[in-house]
Amino acid sequence: MMTTDTLSVQRAPRIEAPVAAKTESIGGSWKLGVPFLLVHLSCIAVIWVGWSPVAVAVCVGMYLVRMFGITAFYHRCFSHRAFKVSRSVQFVGACVAASAAQRGPLWWSAHHRRHHRATDRPGDPHSPVQDGLAYSHVFWMFAPANQATDAELVADLAAYREMRLLDRYHHVVPAVTLLAMLGTGYLLGWLWPGLHTSGPQMLVWGFCISTVLVYQLTFAVNSLGHRIGQRRFETNDASHNNWWLALATLGEGWHNNHHRFPAGARAGFNVWELDPTWLILRGLQRIGVVHDLRPVPPTILADSRRRAKAA
Ligand SMILES: [Zn+2]
Ligand SMILES: [Zn+2]
Repeated sequence: MMTTDTLSVQRAPRIEAPVAAKTESIGGSWKLGVPFLLVHLSCIAVIWVGWSPVAVAVCVGMYLVRMFGITAFYHRCFSHRAFKVSRSVQFVGACVAASAAQRGPLWWSAHHRRHHRATDRPGDPHSPVQDGLAYSHVFWMFAPANQATDAELVADLAAYREMRLLDRYHHVVPAVTLLAMLGTGYLLGWLWPGLHTSGPQMLVWGFCISTVLVYQLTFAVNSLGHRIGQRRFETNDASHNNWWLALATLGEGWHNNHHRFPAGARAGFNVWELDPTWLILRGLQRIGVVHDLRPVPPTILADSRRRAKAA
């Protein structure tokens, strides 16, 4: 099915991207795979660093902030243009999302737009239908075919110099985040020993564990979100709505809804479908940080209610 989003991408003016049509990301896929593996293995260090309430709280906070960066900015804003932001907010949002170490905004959005162009068909970079659950969950990220960014697909984003720079040096923000966590832990341990935290403990909880959680739950939208749950709409793909995945991913688990109308800023179509990203975006719109949230057409919302009642 040709989605509204697909149409909007195809009709977007093809401005000359200031980067080459195909740009290799810095380093090969193995160079990305090693830090990815290390951040997972580092979680084992929790055995030695222990835990403290403040470290767990920072872990939860870092999870929520960075998951919001991915869902609101990399996904709904950059990939789908579901709302508008100023250039400075765009850059701040991109940096928050980049701190989750899922590469840069151009790479992320280009691959997500490819996903919507050919969902669960040949050409989809991460389809469990085409390539199996494990590949669509994680291995697609490291496949040689998915290392380059098709700049034509993200010409609108590549038009901004700071976005190109952030994409090229996407390692920098996660590295700074890692060091900030280490420093915060040392500082808290020194200023307030009663908190029972330390640099290494904050590094493990605030960076490693929270990053792995953001990784695995974001990836689950690509894999399980196309396998497990309910299908309210007969979209021309295998997308499913999944309430627990929606809770964990701040609304992204309403994935069948999303594939019904990808251009919308909202993924939970019915009132009981909690979509924290949408709620936060509405709050940010009220205080003028974001604007022009693209609504889901009333006909689709009515259809959603009718189908939910009939189910
Ligand atoms: Zn999908
Ligand atoms: Zn999408």
